[in-house]
Amino acid sequence: MRQSSQPLSLLFLSTPVGVLGTGEGGGVELTIKNLAQDLRQTQHQVTIVAPQGSQLDGIPIQPISGNLQVAAQGETREAPIQLPPNSVLANMCDYIRQVQSQYDLIVNFAFDWLPFYLTPFFTTPIAHFISMGSMNDALDEIMEQTATRFPKTLGVYTKTQAETFPFADACRCLGSGLDLSLYDFSEQSNDALVWLGRISPEKGLEDAVAAAQEVGRRLKIFGVLQDKAYWQWIRDQYPQAPIEYGGFLSTTELQQEIRHCRALLMTPRWVEAFGNVAIEALACGVPVISYRRGGPAEIIRDGETGFLVEPDRVEELVKAIHRIEEIDRWACRQQAEEEYSLSALRDRFLAWFDEILDSRNT
Ligand code: UDP
Repeated sequence: MRQSSQPLSLLFLSTPVGVLGTGEGGGVELTIKNLAQDLRQTQHQVTIVAPQGSQLDGIPIQPISGNLQVAAQGETREAPIQLPPNSVLANMCDYIRQVQSQYDLIVNFAFDWLPFYLTPFFTTPIAHFISMGSMNDALDEIMEQTATRFPKTLGVYTKTQAETFPFADACRCLGSGLDLSLYDFSEQSNDALVWLGRISPEKGLEDAVAAAQEVGRRLKIFGVLQDKAYWQWIRDQYPQAPIEYGGFLSTTELQQEIRHCRALLMTPRWVEAFGNVAIEALACGVPVISYRRGGPAEIIRDGETGFLVEPDRVEELVKAIHRIEEIDRWACRQQAEEEYSLSALRDRFLAWFDEILDSRNT
């Protein structure tokens, strides 16, 4: 049996919906980066198999060419599983098949049918980290089959996310974490509100814009412009809103912007699996006002590090914005330090990996 102190050789299968570093993959990009960097600093070997063009400072990437997957959140529940011609996901899986014997464990971050389906065909065990809530019936089905055939191999961010799946009990909650040294605390703030994330309908940006207009405060927006028609629709709906779009920023640039803001608004329409932006804001000392839905409802301490309000109610966001002075910014930073350090995240993942490897060896 493997000693849990022994270094592991890990092969990460990155998301096939975007090039790592562009933000198209959403929060899982940050999770992959943080984990890979931290595991490598603690003597483990990590290689990331990712679409061509992907870049992460100091981490070896095996680039794979091919066409990207369409993200599941834009499709219906009944949509058939699709692969484009010359699929990057299929090409990534094929590469992994060829090199698998060099690794102790494959860690799959792709929210896609194919890696689950292929699990029994591989000789190296696969840990599947599921980065979103339930989206598609065929995908739920193959995930459930994987959970039955390979117990303990499914990981998720949060309990609420797990509960969207019919196999919730089979999921291991791993949470998220940050390199807190990259986020500077700021006691002082200006009056502006901030909204972060992919600009896409499931993120509900229009409600944050409506709330900002109502209270007459600036709303700074940062993130990938994933759905241009949706963005244009918001601008048409709220031509007078005091919004500023600042593009997609690197973590360093982003935290410089966030920490001067008064509060982060999170307005998800879907069950947000986690919401990495919530803990990034907390790490800077910025309170979070969010709909009580999905991951943010498990993260924010209502009345202490932000406010949780009834979902889809702009007037509730407005009330919470008026109460923001009640929140102590230092309490926000402290929560990030207590619950979302990278070392704690690494330990949770390593304990999960050990359990998978041990159950294979017994
Ligand atoms: N993000 C970024 N630059 C930006 C805005 C956002 O790197 O200008 C990142 C942010 O750090 C976070 C991700 O975008 O990791 C959004 O992830 P989240 O988990 O909040 O939502 P998801 O996109 O997964 O639904």
